[in-house]
Amino acid sequence: MQARKRIGLVAHDGRKQDLSEWVKFNEGTLSRHELWATGTTGAMLTAACPSLKIGRLKSGPLGGDQQLGAMIAEGKLDVLVFFTDPMTAQPHDVDVKALTRLSTVYNIVLALTRTTADFVIHSPLFERGDYHPVRPDYAAYIRRRDEGA
Ligand code: PGA
Repeated sequence: MQARKRIGLVAHDGRKQDLSEWVKFNEGTLSRHELWATGTTGAMLTAACPSLKIGRLKSGPLGGDQQLGAMIAEGKLDVLVFFTDPMTAQPHDVDVKALTRLSTVYNIVLALTRTTADFVIHSPLFERGDYHPVRPDYAAYIRRRDEGA
């Protein structure tokens, strides 16, 4: 993992204020990394921290979560800070599940709570380039058809 991390930032509506405060508090550190956000989250974060350069994807329910998922599958995202709202049903629940699932599949850093995000950003590993995450080996899974044939 490079020292400059590629970070996804997403918050459900009920958690957007929380994420905005967290990003503002950590603005200095985050400015040294590559930032991506889903549409509405990104607009709000840019308004709160105009000096931060944040790549904006589509709004989450309109495909933004899946765009982040594709980045994870392609090895283009190191960290996902995703403040989910546990008290509100989401119309795009399947996309939320897919995004958190792919984060696990590819063993990226996944912070679903503000406390976890605090621990992650204050980890000595956060700005180092010498951490090598274990990449799960799915070779046997990919080969399974051949073996079954
Ligand atoms: P939004 O999407 O940033 O466009 O609101 C967030 C989400 O995926 O729920």
